[in-house]
Amino acid sequence: MTDEKRIAVCPGSYVPITYGHLDIIKRGAQQFDEVVVAVVNVSVRKNQPLFDIEERLAFINEATAAAGLGNVRAEPFSVLVVDFARSIGARTIVKGLRAISDFEYELEMGQLNRMQAPDVDTLYLMASPQYSFLSSSGVKELATFGGDIDSLVPERVARRLKEELTR
Ligand code: ADP
Repeated sequence: MTDEKRIAVCPGSYVPITYGHLDIIKRGAQQFDEVVVAVVNVSVRKNQPLFDIEERLAFINEATAAAGLGNVRAEPFSVLVVDFARSIGARTIVKGLRAISDFEYELEMGQLNRMQAPDVDTLYLMASPQYSFLSSSGVKELATFGGDIDSLVPERVARRLKEELTR
């Protein structure tokens, strides 16, 4: 064992953060000295995300502070995840798995990342049952049609989704 800090990265687009993401971040924070929630700051698609990078970061920082997670911070990134991990001294990427469909995608990403950077490994946490159906896109769809999202996302996120999406 060394005295080196064990730092993990939880990467994603977080448009917006849900209680499912927060659950993975919390569980990561119990296993590592520090967790950096890395928020994608480039759009691979042409469309702009619903919330800009500052607002997505603010949602995450507010939610993790409210959950009392003192060893978690959010940062934007616009490079390869493994390069971002190396730049902050992290050797572990933490990801959540909800279903077989996540597994297929994450297997591919994990293999590609390992090829790029054998020194950075990925740790997969199974989604907690109560969040295993929860996705940002599902929440956005519910918000669009006036569904109840209060138990799925932090309060400020719910309010902003309603402002932006409710028809
Ligand atoms: P993407 O933009 O690739 O769909 P997100 O940015 O929404 O992914 O999520 C980032 C990570 O959080 C992924 O590893 C995803 O599997 C995980 N995740 C998302 N929702 C949940 C959930 N409800 N429970 C557990 N993990 C989740």
